[in-house]
Amino acid sequence: MYLLYVDESGDPGLINSPTTHFILNGLIVHSNAWFDALDGIIKLRKELKKEHGIRVRTELKGKYFYKNKGEFYEKKIKPEVRLEIYKKILNFEVTSGYFKTLFVCVNKSYPHTRDPKELAWQSLLERFQRFLQSAGERGMVFPDDGYIKFVTQLQRKMRRYNPVKSNFTGEFYTDYRILNILEDPSARNSVSSYFIQLSDMNAYALHKYITPARGYDTLYPILDSSNVLVAEVSKLKGGKKGIVCWPGQCEGCPNSTIKNPF
Ligand SMILES: [Zn+2]
Repeated sequence: MYLLYVDESGDPGLINSPTTHFILNGLIVHSNAWFDALDGIIKLRKELKKEHGIRVRTELKGKYFYKNKGEFYEKKIKPEVRLEIYKKILNFEVTSGYFKTLFVCVNKSYPHTRDPKELAWQSLLERFQRFLQSAGERGMVFPDDGYIKFVTQLQRKMRRYNPVKSNFTGEFYTDYRILNILEDPSARNSVSSYFIQLSDMNAYALHKYITPARGYDTLYPILDSSNVLVAEVSKLKGGKKGIVCWPGQCEGCPNSTIKNPF
């Protein structure tokens, strides 16, 4: 059984939105590795407490590093040190061997016929389904608590009927139900879930790769150069591993070469 933790970066709005991209990250942990993964994060957090005074219970979000918020501000932790801590956490993720991860990136500068939130979540669930299917496993979904109602409805719908347009002809539809995903999603509060916090930091790392600033574009390559990204994700649409881009013309995204699928 695989657990999928999901968090986002950017907002899904199309009108007067402050962001150009809406990004979802899914962090995958196998049930057999779950305790070790948790213990690994706790050990890391204890090191951060010892080295920088950051409390073990403090919520870590990508945005807090960049914008110097919360305990980073209180403890007056320097910008270069914040970036180093961010890198340390991502390096733990890629070297620990407990995690796999995947992204959906919706570029809102292009016209969209669908709600970016629905497009992104549907893509993510389809890719998770595909991942589970090729692994011969079942899975469950744990989103950040903001979208729980929406994700519950979507999962229930996709379990019963999910026509997906063929990538090759654009005409034939395949019914691609998410039959390897069990139960309704279960919400997690990011304050109390280290896994959601890690997913948030992944999503923010990709966002800052697309809109680079102050050295934060050096974070995503840590994920990209490792084997944590789920390769199967890109097989449906092509492009670079681990990211599904919509509509597929995302300048700055690592897989900007793929064709517009519309
Ligand atoms: Zn993109």
